[in-house]
Amino acid sequence: MKITKCIYCGSEEITEKVKIYADSSHNIPLRAVFENDKKSFFSHEKPEYLYADMCNSCGSVIRFYAENPHSNWITGEY
Ligand SMILES: [Zn+2]
Repeated sequence: MKITKCIYCGSEEITEKVKIYADSSHNIPLRAVFENDKKSFFSHEKPEYLYADMCNSCGSVIRFYAENPHSNWITGEY
């Protein structure tokens, strides 16, 4: 179900698919990682870039998501 109204302030002004970066030079998109089905020494996990839908009125993140869903996300403590 698509969320069309901010759950925090009620605004319907929402910008979709905002790119989120992990650095100030916009080179490194924020990623979630999942287990690589074809595990190798160099790549036992793969990244999925994250996007956000954000409220234009209060700045809240309405939704945080990856475009491709997976069931084998890497979880746990850093
Ligand atoms: Zn809002």
